[in-house]
Amino acid sequence: MDARYDVIVIGAGAAGLLAAARAGERGRRTLLVERNRKPGVKILMSGGTRCNLTHAATARGIVDAFGAAGRFLHSALAALSPDDLVAMFEAEGLPTKVESTGKVFPVSDRALDVLAALRRMLARSGAELRLGAAVVNIVREAPAGAGFIVHSEHAAYRADKLIITVGGQSYPGCGTCGDGYAWARSLGHRIIPPRPALVPLLSPESWVHQLRGVTLPDVALEMVDAREGRDSFATSDPSHPSTPPVAKASRPWPTERSRTRGSFLFTHFGLSGPAPMDVSRAVTERPHARWQARCDFLPAVSEHDLYERFASEAAANGKRAIVNLLAEWVPRRLAEALMARARLPLDRRAAELSRAERAALVDALKHTAVAISGTLGFKKAEVTAGGVSLDEVDSRTMQSKLLAGLYFAGEILDLDGPIGGYNFQAAFSTGALAGDSV
Ligand SMILES: Cc1cc2nc3c(=O)[nH]c(=O)nc-3n(C[C@H](O)[C@H](O)[C@H](O)COP(=O)(O)OP(=O)(O)OC[C@H]3O[C@@H](n4cnc5c(N)ncnc54)[C@H](O)[C@@H]3O)c2cc1C
Repeated sequence: MDARYDVIVIGAGAAGLLAAARAGERGRRTLLVERNRKPGVKILMSGGTRCNLTHAATARGIVDAFGAAGRFLHSALAALSPDDLVAMFEAEGLPTKVESTGKVFPVSDRALDVLAALRRMLARSGAELRLGAAVVNIVREAPAGAGFIVHSEHAAYRADKLIITVGGQSYPGCGTCGDGYAWARSLGHRIIPPRPALVPLLSPESWVHQLRGVTLPDVALEMVDAREGRDSFATSDPSHPSTPPVAKASRPWPTERSRTRGSFLFTHFGLSGPAPMDVSRAVTERPHARWQARCDFLPAVSEHDLYERFASEAAANGKRAIVNLLAEWVPRRLAEALMARARLPLDRRAAELSRAERAALVDALKHTAVAISGTLGFKKAEVTAGGVSLDEVDSRTMQSKLLAGLYFAGEILDLDGPIGGYNFQAAFSTGALAGDSV
């Protein structure tokens, strides 16, 4: 006879660990099954192994960050808000800190400590954890409505209720291969096509590749579909003659979550770092658009102030090479590349700049458009957009609206948030609510 439980939770990530701990605490005989030999692999690698576990925001702030889908999170955040999450970890002996970006980390800067706290909660709850057990199939017990049979490669487990928390299909090397979608489909659920999100961007532009390793702490980025622009505000890339003229962002698409501001990295393949990754979901949602990343490399300085600065430099320091002024604002390699984009020689002096040349430099600093040809895909995507359709899940309990006893939580749902701790918060909150509801 197979072992029988009240609840089986499949997938020991953020959502599954908390779901199982909450169910166990409530006296449910609970089994948590995990494919890997250790739980919480993504927790360990997250935030550069520091684990950005949530964002210093109100529940409302988290809802808003998820855009239209955020409404689905109201009850989950009522069950576990960012403040509750921080209090939960602090009570477990894990003090946290808020960084200037609003990201919340453990004071120790060790993701290992976050996982250890979750493992202590799980152990105390009485839930069993079975590692190295990849689930291969799920079937309903007969007669219908009785429960579920969960098959791993070597065993079968039965339960009245099932919580699926196997995540999405990004970083498949972590054990997240998208298995949950097929099970959800076989149980009657609609899957919104999964696609990579929070993923580095590919660019064909050689000047971008040449700047690999250059980082900026604060760039404002906007994704624009060049086919939708009307007029052009900059010339084509001089080092890349095939680059089409840059379209003015007269109708940016989609307006929601296609703009951001944050740190930025040039790489040998294109753009990476928090800002480019945050806008990547637009690219994977409309892969056939002619995407351009419109970059403002100096978002804290207005165009007017830049013109003034060029004028005062010409008056006070006319012999100075203008590239040296640019290098006060942006890394020198980028300053030199922007001179080339403005079609200016590197030895151009401040007093020699014509009006048109000043305008070209301001344009290069504040409106450079980088052609984007795609992303690094699921292999390097921090999250998966798409997944189990939210319409078919009761947001008050995380229970399927189609099949009693079946629950979903975490990234398997059609929910993806920006960089900054939002995705863990959603996984923890939906996991906690599912565990409270079974
Ligand atoms: C490199 C990286 C860094 C990140 N950094 C952050 C960050 O700092 N802050 C943040 O908020 N978010 C971050 N994220 C995103 C965050 O990790 C995820 O959104 C979050 O882990 C989702 O939690 P989950 O529990 O739904 O799924 P997961 O954490 O993906 O857990 C799913 C679990 O299910 C298991 N599983 C899958 N299939 C099976 C199966 N067939 N049988 C048994 N088990 C199975 C997997 O092995 C895995 O352990 C990062 C992601 C990556 C890849």
